[in-house]
Amino acid sequence: MTDGDLEFGSLPSWNIKIRHDLAEIDRLSLTRVRRVVAGPQGPQVRLNGQLLTNFSSNDYLGLASDPRIISSLQKAASFYGVGAGASHLVCGHSSAHHELEAELAAFTGRDRALLFSNGYMANMGVLSALSSRKATIYEDRLNHASLIDGAMISGARLSRYAHADPESLQILMGKEVQAGSLIVSDGVFSMDGDLAPVRKLKDLADFHGAIFMVDDAHGLGVLGKTGGGVLQLEGLNQEDAPILMGTLGKAFGTYGAFVAGSDELIEYLIQRARTYIFTTAIPSALAVATIESLRLAVEETWRREKLLALVNRFRAGAKQLGLKLMDSCTPIQPILIGNNESSLKMSQELLKAGFLVPAIRPPTVPKGTARLRITVSALHEEHDIDALLDSLSACAFYLGDETDLSGGEGE
Ligand SMILES: *Cc1c(COP(=O)(O)O)cnc(C)c1O
Repeated sequence: MTDGDLEFGSLPSWNIKIRHDLAEIDRLSLTRVRRVVAGPQGPQVRLNGQLLTNFSSNDYLGLASDPRIISSLQKAASFYGVGAGASHLVCGHSSAHHELEAELAAFTGRDRALLFSNGYMANMGVLSALSSRKATIYEDRLNHASLIDGAMISGARLSRYAHADPESLQILMGKEVQAGSLIVSDGVFSMDGDLAPVRKLKDLADFHGAIFMVDDAHGLGVLGKTGGGVLQLEGLNQEDAPILMGTLGKAFGTYGAFVAGSDELIEYLIQRARTYIFTTAIPSALAVATIESLRLAVEETWRREKLLALVNRFRAGAKQLGLKLMDSCTPIQPILIGNNESSLKMSQELLKAGFLVPAIRPPTVPKGTARLRITVSALHEEHDIDALLDSLSACAFYLGDETDLSGGEGE
């Protein structure tokens, strides 16, 4: 569609603008669509009457529809009701929230944990509470959008270093002490699946007197012996990494988020984090269900073991097919395509073959790095992986030289 095709008529100017922008989004193959899922999350999902093998969810451990968690949600709702009724600081903080916070503190090996409504709000709350206009927030270029937005509303200076590159960060930080500045990184990068160099980031934070924060939304539950995430894997404790943010809607299969750290940090967030103070608490029954899911995530170690085996099987097969894998040991296994249209086409071909695999395009990822984001679950079976590999091989052939593995969009 070009501007000439648009019927502007007597529309008000804001409406002309959004119509124009929508046409432009469409022209760039960047239109996002919501697929309507009928029924529960799982390794299979039903979409428009078609049963698809689901390689797109963040439900890595397969807990989102676990009958034991469903039953604890149901029972708890009979006791607590549905809505929390108010914010935590008014009368919405229940014994269930309190107990979940204690469990999350024990799980992460931190003094204390604080529940937030979701990860987006947790990041906005922490960054705006802890930084000042005089400080700088240093962030990895590929950090999650909520960390970027948190830095923006904080009013601090935002400085972004090259992805997973401590040397680039060192250059930006110079030689001075930067008390009050923050170094902030995803633990596992959500669209690449690789790990942050947390030890080196910690060393730089120590050297400059900066605060180190890790958002381990995709590592918790998945990495480390008991699912303690990238910090457990790398052996970093509360002193090394004083602020740990985690979400509950990914590997733990429920909803919500938390920040864990020292008593004083948590007390400060209760007083100062606006996204904690000025919002309704999550339902108590959800907190009870999350206590159950946390227990299952820790105890059922077979889920982590099976995930790893499936990831290895997928990588070995994809390598044989000559597909472009990324440097990832996690259940996030993207295949780099390059241009938007080809990744969209490939995703559509996979859908026809019975697989739900999203095409991830800018602005979620940098221009010219559109990709298929394949995510593996502990509830997949080996034959699911093999069937996906067969279809990937078939549609890579179908796309032929349209799949520009080296290229970008040239914009
Ligand atoms: C998903 C995600 C968030 C946001 O968490 P929600 O609970 O979904 O709002 C924050 N950070 C990262 C790295 C994420 O992947």
